[in-house]
Amino acid sequence: MIKYQRDNCGYCGACVAVCPQQILELTENEVTKGIGCDECGNCTIVCPMGAFTREDEP
Ligand code: SF4
Ligand code: SF4
Repeated sequence: MIKYQRDNCGYCGACVAVCPQQILELTENEVTKGIGCDECGNCTIVCPMGAFTREDEP
């Protein structure tokens, strides 16, 4: 699953722009992820802060 860590986020909005499902939303102090993530990984690639990471299931 794709995990978001607010502490690392710089609120640049880059992830919002590259999400093909358009489920990411930038608010004042966090990015919210709606339902429908297809695990494409775009947000993990584009984030300059490493706030989005892919966590493999154990
Ligand atoms: S992995 Fe892809 S679909 Fe899921 S939130 Fe990130 S950019 Fe959007
Ligand atoms: S790309 Fe990274 S730093 Fe920028 S808003 Fe998204 S999660 Fe935050």
